[in-house]
Amino acid sequence: MKNQVQFQKGYSLIEFMKDYGTEDQCRKALFLWRWPQGYKCPECEGRSYCTLKARAVFQCNRCHHQQSLISGTIFSATKLPLTTWFLAIHLITQAKTGIAALALQRQLGVCYNTAWSIKHKLMQVMKERDDSKVLTGIIQLDDVYWGGEHHGGKRGRGSPNKTPFVAAVSVNDKGHPISMNMNVVEGFRSKEIARWAKRHLSPNSEVVSDGLACFSAVKEAGCQHTRIVTGGGPDCVSLQSFTWVNTMIGNVKRSINGTYHAIDHKHLPRYLAEFCYRFNRRFVLEDMLPRLCYVALQTPPMPMRLLKMADTHIRHIYIRSSISTPTPTFKNNSIPSLPTSAAAKYQIDNTLYLYKVLKINNFLFRGY
Ligand SMILES: [Zn+2]
Repeated sequence: MKNQVQFQKGYSLIEFMKDYGTEDQCRKALFLWRWPQGYKCPECEGRSYCTLKARAVFQCNRCHHQQSLISGTIFSATKLPLTTWFLAIHLITQAKTGIAALALQRQLGVCYNTAWSIKHKLMQVMKERDDSKVLTGIIQLDDVYWGGEHHGGKRGRGSPNKTPFVAAVSVNDKGHPISMNMNVVEGFRSKEIARWAKRHLSPNSEVVSDGLACFSAVKEAGCQHTRIVTGGGPDCVSLQSFTWVNTMIGNVKRSINGTYHAIDHKHLPRYLAEFCYRFNRRFVLEDMLPRLCYVALQTPPMPMRLLKMADTHIRHIYIRSSISTPTPTFKNNSIPSLPTSAAAKYQIDNTLYLYKVLKINNFLFRGY
């Protein structure tokens, strides 16, 4: 039998061009995804508005507040046509092993810096989205170093060329993978693993890990923990309990190495997030574009200064919003139907609030 994930129909470039080939189509789509229940003023919640002729903004009829289709979102302040963004999203979400900024530059007909910025902004959207979700159930957990060997050799503590990250794969009771999460950590110490687990694992999950002592710190996040002690070396790869987490570690390393020749270690969190995001949505290739656009509209702007910083610096300076709205179901790229009216309150309000904080605190980012 054919593998149903690998052989699913997908979403062809021809279909994409038919749906989002013009600026007008892209604008209409974004409007529907941002305001599925009709326009709403972020200041007074007024629903009636007019569009200005001189500038592409919506003006509230009640309080005259103005905002553009993309203000307060990851697309904020872009000078590019929306068709370029949509094509980038299509290429990034449909390429199974990722697409490098250099390849994106050629496909989009933009300069390298622009392609890099688009790519990293979209990867940031993926990261913030998946960071807002937790893994549940049976979770296989392993420690990995980027830039070093996975097994054998010295555990790369203190080595500047190795970046430690945690790989976690949740599996169902048949042992099949459901979703995964890979996060850079500051090291394999109990305190750090506890911090990671509280953020990324649901309490009562059953965590299975190798013998590394710090992993028992997942108990601090309310998880159960089973330790499988192996002799180390290549033997533990074949251990049944670690089949998936090891496969995924192999895949992510191959994927990143094969697509991106050299990546800056400080940006590793985004590359890992991109890989996980695509894997976690592998059953619905057709919905990839509307879903990513939907969350991109809820992700606060990411100025270049911030984009170039390491993830840890961003975390220390500024806590970005986490997107908690459930993704609506998209049918043939139509208007999403939001699950509840509470969800319809839409993270946008929150996003705009944070955007204001970001603007007020702009001085924070000077010098980076
Ligand atoms: Zn208003």
